[in-house]
Amino acid sequence: MTANTPEPGAGTTGEGTRAVRAGLPAPVKHEPSMPGPVFAAHYHLPGEPTGAYTYGRDGNPTWTQLERAIGELEAPGVDGTETLVFASGMAAISAVLFSQLRAGEAVVLPDDGYQALPLVREQLTAFGIEVRTAPTGGDAQLEVLDGARLLWIETPSNPGLDVCDVRRLADRAHAGGALVAVDNTLATPLGQRPLELGADFAVASGTKQLTGHGDVLLGYVVCRDAALAASVRNWRKVVGAIQGPMEAWLAHRSLATLELRAERQNANALALAQALRSRTEVSGLRYPGLPEDPSHAVAARQMHRFGCVVSFTLPSRAHAERFLDALHLVDDATSFGGVRSTAERRGRWGGDAVAEGFVRFSAGAENTEDLVADVLRALDTALDQRG
Ligand SMILES: *Cc1c(COP(=O)(O)O)cnc(C)c1O
Repeated sequence: MTANTPEPGAGTTGEGTRAVRAGLPAPVKHEPSMPGPVFAAHYHLPGEPTGAYTYGRDGNPTWTQLERAIGELEAPGVDGTETLVFASGMAAISAVLFSQLRAGEAVVLPDDGYQALPLVREQLTAFGIEVRTAPTGGDAQLEVLDGARLLWIETPSNPGLDVCDVRRLADRAHAGGALVAVDNTLATPLGQRPLELGADFAVASGTKQLTGHGDVLLGYVVCRDAALAASVRNWRKVVGAIQGPMEAWLAHRSLATLELRAERQNANALALAQALRSRTEVSGLRYPGLPEDPSHAVAARQMHRFGCVVSFTLPSRAHAERFLDALHLVDDATSFGGVRSTAERRGRWGGDAVAEGFVRFSAGAENTEDLVADVLRALDTALDQRG
């Protein structure tokens, strides 16, 4: 299978089929189909300290199964990849950036990406690494790529939902000797497979739709080859940003329903976006799955699903707050991707370049009619309560 094959395994194994079996060991009589979490700080280790399981910061069988599962979903058609799980998405992101970059080298980051990236930027700069930034949309990264060591892409971007052309950017970056990492959090591996689009690293927060229940933090890095994986693995050992076995097991258990959840949640997001189109108080509506969305053409080429997040802007901060207060089926909470719909006024955090009335909406797995009705009713309430 080459990296250019768009749909590895298509026609032989569906994504739902792969998800329910991802990472499971071969059946053994009298053993559970999915072994429970292994709680171990250390392992029996007579003689030479070698092998997969020596000390708990370096390896754990429950991680191994989760890593195998994520690898099967992220890069089913790419040989030689390795997956590493981390305590959180930020731990995974930091592991790639800080293991790959040296003082004097340059990195290209999005200026409209995840809200903790500016903190990362400060730290990189303090270590003598040159940080260049570019917006995600329109492949603007190309203009600042010259001589960079690493290109960091987040597509679709959170929270603006802009999309860039991963293959085009990766080809250009590689031609100039740069490595390419893609934050795949919003799409999930069922929505987009960055390694098949040419990236060297697929990185994500599994805290969001990948695990989908709002009860676990997780990060992962899928590396194109063993040499890249060795440096990221070494960083994990040095920093110790490891997952607990219980969290790793919960995350793995959640993967079985990933396709089911994504089907319903993403369909809900599309239905919601369609319903919001005709509302005159809504501006800046974004969903990559809407045919008229500025991201749609590129998204349709490189994504298999368009995600569960819709963003839009209401006329004012007060208007957005009235809307969020009036929702019955939607929790006012940060994060996204969970089976229960959440929404928040993103501007309350500061840090994102968004309008005061900007709402990031994460569609859950409720019945579509119920969710759309709740949102339309809350919009009506927010209009009626205008002072
Ligand atoms: C949430 C998020 C992160 C950070 O993940 P944590 O698990 O919260 O550390 C990184 N990138 C994107 C795009 C995110 O949405």
